[in-house]
Amino acid sequence: MTDAANAGMLADSALIAHGRGEAFDYLLGEATCEPARMAICKTASALLSADKCVISVNGNTVALAGTQLIACAAVLNCPVEVNIYYRTPERMKALISALEKQRMDATKLYPNLAEKIVNVPILGDNPDGQIPNLDGPRANCHSDGILSANAILVPLEDGDRCEALIAMGKTVCVIDLNPLSRTAKTASVTIVDELTRCVPILLNELMRESASQDEDWDNDLNLQEVIAVMLRILE
Ligand code: ATP
Ligand code: MG
Repeated sequence: MTDAANAGMLADSALIAHGRGEAFDYLLGEATCEPARMAICKTASALLSADKCVISVNGNTVALAGTQLIACAAVLNCPVEVNIYYRTPERMKALISALEKQRMDATKLYPNLAEKIVNVPILGDNPDGQIPNLDGPRANCHSDGILSANAILVPLEDGDRCEALIAMGKTVCVIDLNPLSRTAKTASVTIVDELTRCVPILLNELMRESASQDEDWDNDLNLQEVIAVMLRILE
């Protein structure tokens, strides 16, 4: 994260947001809990069964898990779209070039996916659409990415944007260590787990291509189960 900050990829508040996540991770015993595993499976099936999906990334996400998320996008045949809260041309450029480097790393790490990895569209620097009901540059997005997707994976999303994406009728799957955040409470599916720990599990689930028939998903109940895990650690 500090290397990414020095490379101009992160907003000033990024390390604070990361620390907020780490604090909650202690309450999980720094392990993927059973309810998080269920949310990962639900996310995999929501993304696999969507007509159109997209993986939306911010600076922290690129820094921590860009390579693995490009591999997820390759399995899903979907774009990765950079969508950042504090948009500057310099940050956008730094993030897109980091992703292009990670794409090369991904072809070596996942040789069986290499052909698809080279074709993953990386969007963000030329937005031609707007997320409705959201002020400022963070509303900018691509019409062939976030704007038209039915399902979206947004690791480390902000509460306002999560609400706006839900209001657009999308299935919003988020990764957020804080089960009490607005994002966690608003999303369709919330994976309460550390990003670098859960994305490889998600990638495995996606590769199994098991878009299970949709049983009902109660996200509030799943969050309650995660909070129960956290409280047991405090006992
Ligand atoms: P909200 O806007 O949803 O109410 P917030 O303003 O506290 O929440 P943001 O800064 O918008 O949070 O988003 C960052 C979120 O990402 C935090 O809730 C934090 O817990 C979580 N987070 C930070 N680092 C990680 C990580 N490595 N893995 C998973 N979650 C993380
Ligand atoms: Mg916020």
